[in-house]
Amino acid sequence: MTTTLRGLPAAPGIGIGTLIVYRPGLISLDLAQFESAGDPHHEWRRFLDAHARVDAELEQLGRHANSLVAEIFAAHRVILHDQTLLDSIRAAIFDHSRTAVSATHKVIGELSDLFRSFEDDYFAGRAMDILDLGQRLLAQLDISLSQPHLAHLPPGTILAAEELAPTDLAQLPADHVQGIALARSTPTAHSAILARALGIPSVCTLGHGLLQQPSGRPAVVDGYAGHLLLDVDEAELNRYSDLRRRHLDQDAAALAHAHTPAHTLDGVWVPVYANANSPQEVAQNRAAGADGVGLLRTEYFFRGRMTPPACAEQEAAYAEFIGQVDRQLTVRALDTGGDKPVPFIAHHREDNPFLGLRGVRLLLEEPELLRTQYRALQSAARRGPPELDVRFMLPMISTVEEVLAARAILGEPLDELPRVKFGVMIEVPSAALVAHSLAPHVDFFSIGTNDLAQYTLASDRTNSAVAMLADPLHPAVLQLIQLTCVAALAHGKPVSLCGEIGGDPAAVPLLLGLGVQELSVPLPAVAVVKETVRQIDLADCRRLAAAALACARAAEVRQLLRAGQSAGSITP
Ligand code: PEP
Ligand code: MG
Repeated sequence: MTTTLRGLPAAPGIGIGTLIVYRPGLISLDLAQFESAGDPHHEWRRFLDAHARVDAELEQLGRHANSLVAEIFAAHRVILHDQTLLDSIRAAIFDHSRTAVSATHKVIGELSDLFRSFEDDYFAGRAMDILDLGQRLLAQLDISLSQPHLAHLPPGTILAAEELAPTDLAQLPADHVQGIALARSTPTAHSAILARALGIPSVCTLGHGLLQQPSGRPAVVDGYAGHLLLDVDEAELNRYSDLRRRHLDQDAAALAHAHTPAHTLDGVWVPVYANANSPQEVAQNRAAGADGVGLLRTEYFFRGRMTPPACAEQEAAYAEFIGQVDRQLTVRALDTGGDKPVPFIAHHREDNPFLGLRGVRLLLEEPELLRTQYRALQSAARRGPPELDVRFMLPMISTVEEVLAARAILGEPLDELPRVKFGVMIEVPSAALVAHSLAPHVDFFSIGTNDLAQYTLASDRTNSAVAMLADPLHPAVLQLIQLTCVAALAHGKPVSLCGEIGGDPAAVPLLLGLGVQELSVPLPAVAVVKETVRQIDLADCRRLAAAALACARAAEVRQLLRAGQSAGSITP
């Protein structure tokens, strides 16, 4: 009989395959089996051999990964060569007569417990890194201690896990993984953003019951409804296979037209750009049919480095991206701090990192970082075609003072063409509420609904316990989107939206009805969003928006959208 686990949709699509439950960390061991102490010199040599093989494995993985992931593997190698770690394992072998396996298991376990005890997201992340390394060492010491490895999942996998880090996702053989089901996580966590970019149907917030499920069972991920179905019977399986085929056909039909601009039925052009998290995704924007890149998250450039990238290095990268877009490139200034520290900035522990020194707040403390990034983009734009729309935007703006302070750091815009346009993200409620006062100081707004929903509904976007609350379609968020659009219109400034909700075809008519003029969406959503735009009339969209703004609950808004879809949209 079919068992249905209900969670939240994280990436659209239907995935059909076999469940594999992934439990990262150190394999549990009956250490007594590994306690027969032999010659410590022999055990230490075995450890050193395993260490060398893991080092080579990480080097190899780094060489074939994109730059973000390569930096993380490089950071893992730094931990692997840490002298304290090596000394502790050596002491466990020579002074406490442990075998290589038992010494490694014990030292790695203790070290990761120590990091976890700091109760800090940053150190918790390092604890996961240490466990990952320890597991690699154990697998090299004794093949029977291997765990299913993310990079080697078999074809037809439905991958279940508690959480997946962005690096875990980057290792997945995307053509083997049909679906992802997570016990925790949330639709706007960066792992979900990556899953969407990879086009893998995903659901999250399924609860811990998921991890108790045995591997090897037939499973279906319904990335539209947010369900995982286990032990699906034949009739249900056929229904899902049909649904999957219909969606794939729709996607293929949409892709066939993706390269033509999207006009609404009443003739208004709606540019549809792609969100890119890495240079690889920038490179794919044309093939996906995007009009350019409307949000380049530049964090990939800064993570895992001991010093920030120099101006010349950034300029070379931006110049390459400029050559890869048709109409627009919007580079977002480094959005980090708080929960996402970068090694070259002194990090002070914050009790509430999401309300702390993040985004533009950190850039104002580190003006050289901001200035360098802007100058690099300006120089790259100067080398590109003059008609290209190159934009630079600041994350996490909450006040007019921040915009003025940033402008003072960046200096007066240069008169020469092409001029890099300067804009801000509207992702904090205060920014939406003072959008009228922000508008005279910027060239454009870009609405970040992932954070706007988090801050409006006071619900941490990484916390699965409150993920249901942070709904970007909540009427309170819609009011703020509308306020922003009204202010932009009054000042003649373009307003785009780059939060994940823009990639949901069901939400597109509503967003356009609220006054959003441009959309920037996950790569795989570009074609279907363009197709949706072609089937709507803006007058209908405005009526839909008025009805949605009158709702009291997000559920009512979703109900309205479903009613609109059954009246003729391309999605079921
Ligand atoms: C957002 O907050 O909506 C956004 C687009 O930025 P990020 O998801 O990177 O915070
Ligand atoms: Mg944001």
